[in-house]
Amino acid sequence: MKIKSSEFIISAVGPKQYPEDGLPEIALAGRSNVGKSSLINRMLLRRNLARTSAQPGKTQQLNYYRINEELYFVDVPGYGYAKVSKTEREAWGRMIELYLREREPLRLVIQLVDLRHPPTALDISMYEWLSHYRIPICIVGTKADKLSRNQVPKHGKIVRETLGMPKGQPLVLFSSETGMGRDELWSIIAQAADI
Ligand code: GDP
Repeated sequence: MKIKSSEFIISAVGPKQYPEDGLPEIALAGRSNVGKSSLINRMLLRRNLARTSAQPGKTQQLNYYRINEELYFVDVPGYGYAKVSKTEREAWGRMIELYLREREPLRLVIQLVDLRHPPTALDISMYEWLSHYRIPICIVGTKADKLSRNQVPKHGKIVRETLGMPKGQPLVLFSSETGMGRDELWSIIAQAADI
């Protein structure tokens, strides 16, 4: 995938602000600090388009990025952030749930998990929720460069087993530091978006 353009479009706080051009959307979800901003930047070959923020959970909106006038990345705020109020958490949950369940142009949810550790209870419940609604999922194991070469496949297997992923479902072993997994993830995105 050759990146000709990538631009931030909007931090949407509700459906009225979602784009209306019908371009396919690829959502990215994962707990705070999992490496989502770094992955977006690496995928788009941008240093700082998605803020690699030291303050996780700050974004309570869906951040839209348009790529090559062809598709959107939709950055879903990190789940499991403890420092927001219960009311805020519930409002966040409803908005995201509606988006993921009913958004017509949504083609794929990329769920990020930290490859160094087994998926957490929150990772598992997110995965089960997406599976329940038959939303197409690609799991990405982040920070692969922090593991030794022979640990990477072992940890990949643990992720697969812990989530109970079906055989055909993709798991991409990824590193924003080295670019590992980037081409593979782009080909999965291109296929899902039909571009
Ligand atoms: P976000 O909260 O999910 O957007 O996470 P960030 O992208 O801000 O990353 C959280 C921290 O993990 C930052 O200190 C990043 O530099 C680091 N990080 C993210 N991805 C990688 C990676 O692939 N390899 C390594 N070594 N560090 C990473």
